[in-house]
Amino acid sequence: MALDIKPGDVVRLKKPHPCGGYLWKVNRVGGDVGLLCQTCGHHIMVSRFRIERRLRAVTRPAPASSAASPESPAS
Ligand SMILES: [Zn+2]
Repeated sequence: MALDIKPGDVVRLKKPHPCGGYLWKVNRVGGDVGLLCQTCGHHIMVSRFRIERRLRAVTRPAPASSAASPESPAS
């Protein structure tokens, strides 16, 4: 019900695209969600309902925080 995805997220679906890719980049959310195949670049629009049923995982780019600091003190 609470589909927590937003543009920029990469989602992994249960069923692969015919090209063999499982990963899709979210480039639009709304009534339908725009997905860009990360393997072949094909773009599709899928209803949120269908995404919820097919979603396996969401990969969100980690926000730049302490992990991005190269000089973090590690004693
Ligand atoms: Zn594809």
